[in-house]
Amino acid sequence: SVPLTHTSTVTTSYKTGRVPVGIGKKRMRIVVTGGAGFVGSHLVDKLIKRGDDVIVIDNFFTGRKENVMHHFGNHRFELIRHDVVEPILLEVDQIYHLACPASPVHYKYNPVKTIKTNVMGTLNMLGLAKRIGARFLLTSTSEVYGDPLEHPQKETYWGHVNPIGVRSCYDEGKRTAETLTMDYHRGAGVEVRIARIFNTYGPRMCLDDGRVVSNFVSQAIRRQPMTVYGDGKQTRSFQYVSDLVDGLMALMEGEHIGPFNLGNPGEFTMLELAEVVKEVIDPSATIEFRANTADDPHKRKPDISKAKELLNWEPKVPLREGLPLMVNDFRNRILNEDEGKGN
Ligand code: NAD
Ligand code: UDP
Ligand code: UDP
Repeated sequence: SVPLTHTSTVTTSYKTGRVPVGIGKKRMRIVVTGGAGFVGSHLVDKLIKRGDDVIVIDNFFTGRKENVMHHFGNHRFELIRHDVVEPILLEVDQIYHLACPASPVHYKYNPVKTIKTNVMGTLNMLGLAKRIGARFLLTSTSEVYGDPLEHPQKETYWGHVNPIGVRSCYDEGKRTAETLTMDYHRGAGVEVRIARIFNTYGPRMCLDDGRVVSNFVSQAIRRQPMTVYGDGKQTRSFQYVSDLVDGLMALMEGEHIGPFNLGNPGEFTMLELAEVVKEVIDPSATIEFRANTADDPHKRKPDISKAKELLNWEPKVPLREGLPLMVNDFRNRILNEDEGKGN
């Protein structure tokens, strides 16, 4: 359903002197960095389904082979174990650049590595895009708005970010990645797209990645109390992963650079989220309060008018419909874990 850009495919092919894959075949070669992760693997599924050739680059820091194993044996799919901090040579038409840990627990684990991934990793992928004339899409984040003083957040808001805090390896890293992206566009004519993604959930999230949805769902399934940090009155807006994948593809195929907020504007406090998880998974589930983490943004809600108008995109899956869609996957993996198979 998404229109393909034959022109750019052909141009790229002449530039690199390789056999064009796009001509008359409606097929492109696409790199997805971080494609073995949560969002990346769902994006890969949709690109493969559309008929494209997909190369995944992943160092498996937070990603898992299990997320893409169902494509092994498909000649249109290729998986490369590679760290984007190192340069790489490839010939492709489009680059979806997702490689970067997304959960606060993961990105704080080795903050210098997180910065290197965001800065050197993005630089390498932009260098690659420049050399081969590929279109480049950056998955930035709502964290670039920091602890926002404007609510809901529009793309025009410059943000309120602590540059020396424990989250800055991620949010300042992504802000630099946005800067690099725009400088390669302005300075080298690279075709770029920027998405600012708001909290996203769904099947294949890491079970214990510390994010609130995966924590609450795992805890409710394991019959442990759901851990609410702080007073639980802070808010977030939760987007189901298929909506995000649709938005990323609409952005890549469209005319507009962005940045675009991609998120579900439904806003919930953590206490309300716990209530929904209770309804969906286990009415007897309980909650337990814990100290909050440093620099935790008090509220977050996307203004998505720009994406609605220019990408003709808006999320379709509300939280109460999306949560049940991840429960089976979580139950199965928790069961495997309990049986000692791990995952
Ligand atoms: P994830 O942790 O599941 O996936 C990230 C993937 O990148 C993993 O497969 C990991 O192994 C890989 N990776 C990390 N560092 C790498 C490196 N140096 N070289 C190669 N591969 C590397 O996270 P996700 O939720 O799928 O997020 C994907 C992207 O979307 C990230 O860039 C993240 O910042 C962005 N994002 C996600 C959310 C969300 O709520 N999920 C919100 C905002 C932004
Ligand atoms: N790069 C890469 N693959 C390519 C082209 C470039 O990984 O196909 C890397 C390159 O090693 C460099 C970065 O991208 O570290 C930026 O490349 P660019 O050509 O813009 O800058 P330069 O190499 O001139 O510093
Ligand atoms: N949170 C919580 N309990 C948890 C994990 C997180 O109450 O077990 C809170 C956290 O303090 C934050 C919100 O949930 O206010 C979202 O956290 P998450 O790590 O999912 O994503 P963030 O939006 O902070 O990147």
